[in-house]
Amino acid sequence: MKKTLLSAILFAAVAVAAQAGTSFKLLSVGDDVDAASLRDYMQEQGGVAVELGGAYAPADPAAALDAIGRAAVADTADEGTFGVILFGRFGTDRPQGVCLPAERFAILNLDRLESAGDPAKVGRRAGQEGLRVMAMLLDMPVCPFPLCVLVGYQKTEDLDRMSGNFCPPCHEQFRQIAADKGLTLLETPADAE
Ligand SMILES: [Zn+2]
Repeated sequence: MKKTLLSAILFAAVAVAAQAGTSFKLLSVGDDVDAASLRDYMQEQGGVAVELGGAYAPADPAAALDAIGRAAVADTADEGTFGVILFGRFGTDRPQGVCLPAERFAILNLDRLESAGDPAKVGRRAGQEGLRVMAMLLDMPVCPFPLCVLVGYQKTEDLDRMSGNFCPPCHEQFRQIAADKGLTLLETPADAE
């Protein structure tokens, strides 16, 4: 009986949106943001399209992170943009990030990711946070499974003990919600097995 239910769920998951897809748009604010590596990681682990949007210069760099994110959506989003994700250097005295799904953006502060613990880990942490905000922008909940990047955490250093990718059920759910919302799905290595 369980197997039948599982088959039904899997069958529903393969339905893919037919219309021209949208994508996440990744923007970098300031130097020392490896946007291409982050895009590659988010695409490989997420299996949805992430467009490189290039450098973004906020009109008011001292504005609150949510104001910068809101302005970035107004300045850069087009009909092919599902949501805007900014990675930047905003200083250690500002929040680690802000994610507002209703306003279609997330903004992440690499200075805060770097300041906690080992600075060399900033790239991995940024990739993890990239996956987490993509899931949040799709309104996915946190995951109870410890070996999942969507598990809840307290401190920045906790990221280093956490998985760098989705657990299989979350990945399936992520791709299904993305397809339902019109995002372009990519072939992932897992699909080719
Ligand atoms: Zn999970």
